[in-house]
Parts: sequence; structure tokens; C-alpha cells
Amino acid sequence: MIEKAIAGFKAAFGYEPQGVWSAPGRANLIGEHTDYNEGFVLPFGIDKRTYVALASRQDSTCRVSSDIDGKTYETNLTSVPVNLDWALYPLGVAWVMREWAKSGFDAFFVSDVPVGSGLSSSAAIECAIGVALNEIWDAGRTRQEIALLGQKAENQVVGAPTGMMDQTASMLAEKDSAVFLDCQTLEARAIPLNLEPRNLVVAVMDTRVAHRHSDGGYRVRRESCERGAKTLGVSSLRGLTVQDLPRAEAELDEVDFRRVRHVITENQRVLDSIEALSEGDMERFGELLLASHDSMAHDFEISIEELDVAVEVAMKTGAVGSRMTGGGFGGAAIAVIDKGLLPQLEKNCKEAFAAKGYGEPKVFAVVPSEGARRER
Ligand code: ADP
Ligand code: MG
Repeated sequence: MIEKAIAGFKAAFGYEPQGVWSAPGRANLIGEHTDYNEGFVLPFGIDKRTYVALASRQDSTCRVSSDIDGKTYETNLTSVPVNLDWALYPLGVAWVMREWAKSGFDAFFVSDVPVGSGLSSSAAIECAIGVALNEIWDAGRTRQEIALLGQKAENQVVGAPTGMMDQTASMLAEKDSAVFLDCQTLEARAIPLNLEPRNLVVAVMDTRVAHRHSDGGYRVRRESCERGAKTLGVSSLRGLTVQDLPRAEAELDEVDFRRVRHVITENQRVLDSIEALSEGDMERFGELLLASHDSMAHDFEISIEELDVAVEVAMKTGAVGSRMTGGGFGGAAIAVIDKGLLPQLEKNCKEAFAAKGYGEPKVFAVVPSEGARRER
């Protein structure tokens, strides 16, 4: 991938890049739609990454290209970038970092993170360019700050109202661990997963039904949460616990109540998961994953049939636990499963999807990997 990024850069711009940086996609173990409610999340960086070969220029022009469409998009940092398709992600990051800009740049992206599958190819592209620009502009931002700049670009320039989980995972990820993030205090801690010694893997079952965050569903969920918090007199849903559920039920309409219940119980499940993982109680962790899926399917209503089928198949194949991951309305489910059962899981998923007339899913294992870094 590093060589591919360099070759792509040379073909697009006709000279050698200054360096290559990369950032991973992420899978969220548990804690969904909790980030923008100032709650808890538990994602990890995956062994699929976006790479950027980049060089600074003498002038203020910023050009980005990628093997995704072979086009080159160009802007300078005098006005906010608009109408630049995927290039809004990297050029959006450059825009939100413009106060540190020392020059324009040329950048070429390659990636093996599946796009639109809930594995956050968007954060991978943002964090890859974020670490690159931080270095060549000598911006001095911390990893956490680069994550927040990536989120800002996605919110303000791309226009997707997402939380900070994806970028934080991509920046702070560590090998063999998940990142426990408190989205209120921004405190982050590595949680060792010890999957390898138990012969477990995290399998991704990508339904290949693409989601789009800038579409309505995500936004409407956010609005429900904001309304719920306001009605219940807290600045965010983080201010509530399971003890507040009866009051929430009394004061909210039926739909908003279920949305709020998902967030409140999901926060608790993240805390319980950390306890289960630290005790090595994988059975309990598996139950929490399933309960999370159930809550997303019925209370938050962001699952789709394909994801429900994937989870069901995973459990029938013998997974410890399984749930959809990411923002929902498509994308992927994960399963914690014995390494030896992976081929069976793939076979079962493909058969179940074919029987239902769905498109063919992709099933593969992901390995918890290191966050954004310079490669060369
Ligand atoms: P997800 O983050 O779950 O993959 P998003 O809708 O948040 O899905 O982000 C996907 C978008 O990010 C793509 O539609 C594309 O615009 C952009 N993107 C991601 N990776 C790349 C890449 N390697 N090259 C170009 N654009 C990319
Ligand atoms: Mg995304």
C-alpha cells in the first residue's frame, strides 16, 4: 500500500512525495450513537488503513487525488471548500487546520478500508491527512486534537453530523487493544482485549449495503436525543442513568423515549463490557454485544434486515456475541468468534444472504491495530 501510494502520487503529480502517512479504519465493539450524547464508546483501530503520500508545495494550492476516481481536486485555503465530492474530507481537514498552514500541498490517497461499510473510511482519510499536515506544517497538535479537527471537518465542511468516536479511534488506537473513550471528559484509556490467547477474532460481516450519514436517519436520531435531553433537563443524555428511565418514559413521547433508552442503556453496557473484559468474562461480554444489537434494532431502530440476519447467523455459527457496528442503516456487523469458525461463518452468511435474495456479504477478520502514524 505504501508503494502504491507513492506510485499514485508520482503518476498524478509527476514528482516524488515527501513522505507517506496512514490511519486505520475502526470497528466499534460497543457504544453506538453514544458519542454525540457525551457518553462512552469502545472502538478499536483495524488492520485496514488509508495511506496518503504527500508533499508540500511552494505556493498555496492544495491538490488531492486518489485511486478511487483518478481525478485531481484543487483548492487553496482562502475559502471553505465546496462541491468537491470525496475530496471534501481531506480538503476539509486542511481547511480546519488553515491557521497552521505554511504552504499548499499535493496528496494522493490509497485505502483498503471498505468505503461506507461502517468501518469509518471517512475518519481514516481525515486522520491520515491530519497527521501528515500536522507534521509538514509543524502544527504541534496532539493526537486527540487532530481527532477533533477531523470531526470538525466532517461536521462543518462535509456536512455529516457525526460524533468524535471514529476519529478518536483512528488516532488513539493501539495494537491488541480497544480505546475506551469518555466523550464528555475526552479521557481515553486502552483496554487490552486478549483475543489472541483465547483464539478469538473479531469478524466483520459487511452487508455491502452502503449508508450515508448526510442522509436523514442519523440526523433525526440526533434530534430525538437532543429533544430528550432538553425535556429531561440535562445538557446531554450523559446526565441520565438507568434510574432515570421511569421519568423519561413519563415525560417523553413513545419514540423519543425509546431513542433515549437506547443511549442510557448503551452507556451502561459499555461500562459493563469493560468490567467483563477486565475479568476475562467473554460470555458476559457476548451477552452485552447482543443486548446492544437488540437495543439498536428495536429502540434506536437503525438496523436493517441484512444486519439482523448477519447477527443471527453469527450466533448460530457459535459466536460469543455479535452486533451491528457503526452508524447504522447499512454497513457491517461484527462477531467475536473462535478463529477456527471463521470459514464456517463466511459460508453461513453467504448462504443465508443468498437464500434471502440479498447481495453477497463480505466476511473477514479484523485485528486491533495501531493508530495514525508516519510510514515513511
Ligand atoms: P464510512 O466512514 O463508514 O466508510 P462515510 O459515509 O462516513 O462512510 O464515508 C465514506 C466517504 O468517505 C466516501 O463516500 C468518500 O467520499 C470518502 N472516502 C473514504 N475513503 C476514501 C478514499 N480512500 N478515497 C477517496 N474518498 C474516500
Ligand atoms: Mg464515516
